Amino acid sequence: MHHINRRPAEECTKDFDEVDQGLPKSTVVLEARRCMDCPRPKCVEGCPVGIDIPGFIKEVAEGHFRKASRILKADNMLPAICGRVCPQEHQCEGMCILGIKDKPIAIGQIERFIADWEAEAGPELPPVAPSTRKRVAIVGSGPAGITAAAECAKAGHDVTIFESLHAPGGVLTYGIPNFRLPKDIVQREIDQVLELGATLKCNHIVGRSITADELLAYDAVFLGTGAGLPYFMGIPGENLGGVYSANEFLTRINLMHADRFPDYDTPVKKGQHVVVIGGGNVAMDSARVARRMGADVTLVYRRRQEDLPARAPETENAIIEGITFLCCANPVEILGEKKVDGIKCIKMEMCAVDASGRPSPQPMTGDEAHFTLKADVVIEAIGQGPNPLLVSLIPGLERAKKGNVVVDEDGRTSIPHVFAGGDIASGAATVIQAMGSAKHAAQAMNRMLAE
Ligand code: FAD
Ligand code: SF4
Repeated sequence: MHHINRRPAEECTKDFDEVDQGLPKSTVVLEARRCMDCPRPKCVEGCPVGIDIPGFIKEVAEGHFRKASRILKADNMLPAICGRVCPQEHQCEGMCILGIKDKPIAIGQIERFIADWEAEAGPELPPVAPSTRKRVAIVGSGPAGITAAAECAKAGHDVTIFESLHAPGGVLTYGIPNFRLPKDIVQREIDQVLELGATLKCNHIVGRSITADELLAYDAVFLGTGAGLPYFMGIPGENLGGVYSANEFLTRINLMHADRFPDYDTPVKKGQHVVVIGGGNVAMDSARVARRMGADVTLVYRRRQEDLPARAPETENAIIEGITFLCCANPVEILGEKKVDGIKCIKMEMCAVDASGRPSPQPMTGDEAHFTLKADVVIEAIGQGPNPLLVSLIPGLERAKKGNVVVDEDGRTSIPHVFAGGDIASGAATVIQAMGSAKHAAQAMNRMLAE
């Protein structure tokens, strides 16, 4: 793993400012010079939007930052975001040839540097084709919707993005905390897409303030409504005060600024002993946010520490920031009268390998198997599913068992002029996968509109 230029834990757990400070220019250029400009670059195969990685890195190595930025933005309109939150260790960097014997090229850090450099130096927009007068509706302004909007706007279409919340960005805004992804950076990159000519309409819930019929009247429609429906464990005590889904907890703080209540209207319970259930990125974000709200935080995960699905750097950050990890344990009941005052768990043991390729966790038996943790806030971060509101209202729209919209290889749904991409089609995935599928779908929309 690469060195992270992080602020000291005792300082950064007291505020919501960015933890990773990025690499300085001199280090970025030296790092870029390590790239071998491979004839068959494996790194590109690992990038869901197909950025010409050796191409942009070569320009960085020669100090041509503007040229590097042009190459980067030709395939990715959200580079400062992706440089910060993509799981590069499983994608471009995970495939980099140099990683076999040495450290891979720090592609994410170089991408981030160039994106931030461009913002300072003055952003340059890609060319936009003359107006086609075709009307495209995009539902949802997460990474999928924003990417589809950019592709369709560049093709000269009249693009309108509908977003139900009061601010754009989807999970980038309401889910991923500021200390990992500063909100001014999200806004900055979305603003660039809007400058291509797309119109953003916030506070517009498609299915309520706009009907499905009105939506379907557009020449082409892209559904990017995400997987914002939280799953719950279904254990006793989940209705007690102080129990949150990670989605609600993070939204209250990231979007509604509950950490600054009563200056802002939305409150959130400030726990002293917070228990977070889950082991993914969402659990790590919830735990680190609760830590910044002043709590002692314990993360309860049913498998072993080495099985944690969160990105390795995020787990490392959580450990550095003092989160306690309680692995091989599963909650069975949340305790309390009206409010949470504890959580009962059972120890788990690892048994035969299951469908995920990992040993399957099974509850232990006997008196010693149960234990109780002190808790006044419990946050469940065990996964989320497709947002059902709109997609259930569109007649004839085929959906799979889990509720996600069924699409073909071009992102086309069962309705010919309706496309979908991102988490609503794939189930909860990643920012860059959402962008990759949206880009692909938008290119198919553009081909259809050109016919
Ligand atoms: P979303 O980002 O969910 O956006 C959907 C948008 O549609 C939302 O703004 C929603 O309000 C809007 N919408 C829904 N219904 C309607 C409607 N009817 N009308 C109008 N608007 C509507 N991925 C990574 O790659 N790296 C990470 O570090 C990472 N961390 C994460 C941390 C958290 C806390 C969470 C929850 C997810 C994380 N992910 C991460 C996953 C990633 O954020 C998602 O895969 C990605 O945001 C999906 O993009 P999307 O555009 O499909 O959906
Ligand atoms: Fe450079 Fe690694 Fe890509 Fe090769 S695989 S071109 S060394 S970043």
